[in-house]
Amino acid sequence: MNGVKQKLIGKVYLVGAGPGDPGLLTLKGLEVLKKADVVIYDRLVSSEVISLIPKKSKKIYSGKGAGDAEKLQRRINRIMVEEAKTGKDVVRLKGGDPFVFGRGGEETQYLKKRGVVFEVVPGITSAFAAPAYAGIPVTHRNFASSVAVITGTEGIDGRTSVNWRKIGSSIDTIVVLMGVSNLQKIIRYISSSGKSLRTDVAIIEWGTTRRQRVVSGTLSNIIEKARKSNVKAPAVIIVGKVVSLGRELAWFKPKNR
Ligand code: SAH
Repeated sequence: MNGVKQKLIGKVYLVGAGPGDPGLLTLKGLEVLKKADVVIYDRLVSSEVISLIPKKSKKIYSGKGAGDAEKLQRRINRIMVEEAKTGKDVVRLKGGDPFVFGRGGEETQYLKKRGVVFEVVPGITSAFAAPAYAGIPVTHRNFASSVAVITGTEGIDGRTSVNWRKIGSSIDTIVVLMGVSNLQKIIRYISSSGKSLRTDVAIIEWGTTRRQRVVSGTLSNIIEKARKSNVKAPAVIIVGKVVSLGRELAWFKPKNR
């Protein structure tokens, strides 16, 4: 009754920060970021997006280098719940889209279990934006009517889920995230799963940012080309006929290159 209304429970917003270019953050993402009490952000959120966080907000870095991955995840989960329960609005800011290899599913399950209210603000995923900035449409009526986004870190050594044996024959455009350190295996798997060795491949490093670099080749020579150009993460690997369109449609001129 003294005019100060205390909010009892805050909300957690899972926000996609987009792939790097700050112009690719959504209007809704910006709106919730501007009123966040606490922002927990990942390694791949660009510095330009981080600079949009208001000075008064508490900023918590949760990327690699901040400790052991599982321990870190538990810590992030705990912070989100604690802050929300004391009435704070929390933004969990993730590179690209939070539900595309961003553990967004796991985090929302955790919040749901503990009765914390959340919203998801989708972001533009690097899986599609990096190719777009390299002039590569992931589908095209003459080249590709299917596209799959897959992880390059699972299923490589016999663990879980990516059905590599079928991928090349059943999907036209294959986009691999987190694949740079397993490039050789990935290219070998795709090559032996039904794609011709002449199929075009591009690796887009730091897509949509001023550091963007594109290394292109074919399934038969991309490993060598990537080695020569010393390709590093973060990078999107894209395989398929659509990649050849990049030669004609490349439009983005990164400032630093
Ligand atoms: N949720 C993110 C993906 C997280 S997994 C998204 O939707 O984009 C992290 C992987 O995303 C990296 O290993 C890399 O493959 C890819 N990635 C993220 N940002 C990138 C960028 N700017 N350029 C190229 N690849 C990027």
